[in-house]
Amino acid sequence: MLIVQKFGGTSVGDLERIQNVANRVSKTKKEGHDVVVVVSAMSGETNKLIGYAEHYSKNPARAELDMLLSSGERVTAALLAIALNEMGFSAVSMSGRKAGIVTDSLHTKARIEEIDPTAMHESLKEGKIVVVAGFQGVTSEGRVTTLGRGGSDLSAVAIAGALKADLCEIYTDVSGIFTTDPRIVPKAKKLDKISYDEMLELASLGAKVLQNRSVELAKKLNVNLVTRTSFTDEEGTLITKEENIMEKPLVSGIALDKNQARISLMGVKDRPGIASEIFNKLAKAGVNIDMIIQNVGHDGSTNIDFTVPVGDLHDAKAVVDTFIQSGDIKDDSYNDSICKVSIVGVGMKSHTGVAAKAFTAMANENINISMISTSEIKVSMVIDEKYAELAVRSLHDAYELDK
Ligand code: ADP
Ligand code: ASP
Ligand code: MG
Repeated sequence: MLIVQKFGGTSVGDLERIQNVANRVSKTKKEGHDVVVVVSAMSGETNKLIGYAEHYSKNPARAELDMLLSSGERVTAALLAIALNEMGFSAVSMSGRKAGIVTDSLHTKARIEEIDPTAMHESLKEGKIVVVAGFQGVTSEGRVTTLGRGGSDLSAVAIAGALKADLCEIYTDVSGIFTTDPRIVPKAKKLDKISYDEMLELASLGAKVLQNRSVELAKKLNVNLVTRTSFTDEEGTLITKEENIMEKPLVSGIALDKNQARISLMGVKDRPGIASEIFNKLAKAGVNIDMIIQNVGHDGSTNIDFTVPVGDLHDAKAVVDTFIQSGDIKDDSYNDSICKVSIVGVGMKSHTGVAAKAFTAMANENINISMISTSEIKVSMVIDEKYAELAVRSLHDAYELDK
């Protein structure tokens, strides 16, 4: 078999843990499999590097950030290859560039355009263990890019797809996908299986155990994806097609996203085309919009509220400012002490009253809901950040997810 194994920040958090990873990888190799390893930076490293950049600038050039941040993953890749070689295995580390990962030029959240797996194939053919620095690629002009926070997951899935690997294992610091973040609800239950769609919603709604784009790609390429821990031999969670899951619970999981901000636009000129202009400009600036609420207008103007990731606030403000200057928007305000709690489950498609139960759970805790959005398989609520954990626990209880 050809197996891609990705190790997250905690799994390579110090030199001893990198040795532990080397042992695990060598075991897979000794079992006769071809192995491509994808590594993250040591935990805390990416944030440390961002801190260095912010020492000089509040808004450093994105291309320079990428040059800086991509170094974290290269350190672990090289160290792991050195450790494996010392154990008598033939291993070679590769940067994103060497691994053939070509992206667009949207620095700090670039999209993979194509992968040329020639170098990886050649090394595998020579019997080598290939160790790829995750989280990074290179533009067609040769500039280094990164794939968004948590992007080593995406590297692993994309490589698994390009190499047509039999299995892609994501090793992390929890033993699989749980009904919610086990750090918030210790009695959360580990799931044996979860559908791509549910996992995609959970990841998009804040469950950082897998980067959402990695799940999207895994679904598209039909990659066999397993999340498990690097610390024990416990079996993990299989992320698979919905039809492979017999029992479909009403609600599979709860996600929390504290990394959201709310932007309120007041006195927006109520004319055809205005929403299109605002949101097109925001999209062009790379701002990720989530929930949008437009109120009923009167006197020729209306209010629009929407949420964005906190990291996109700076860019969003710059766009909003241009509309204020042109007089299309009268006033704006920003709130970054909000959070979004969401319940996710494919079973919702065929049941009524699921959302009502969530609202009741919030009401019982006296938590005010300021925005709501729903889809076939999720209900999201924006609430005050100080109630984040309480809301997650109450929802977990309301849907009896520990049972
Ligand atoms: P890595 O560094 O290995 O990529 P991350 O820190 O990105 O790991 O993701 C793992 C973390 O995701 C866990 O420690 C856990 O706190 C969090 N998490 C959030 N939601 C879930 C969930 N539903 N199931 C499991 N872990 C979750
Ligand atoms: N090191 C990067 C981050 O912290 C990528 C990753 O760990 O997946 O976001
Ligand atoms: Mg991660």
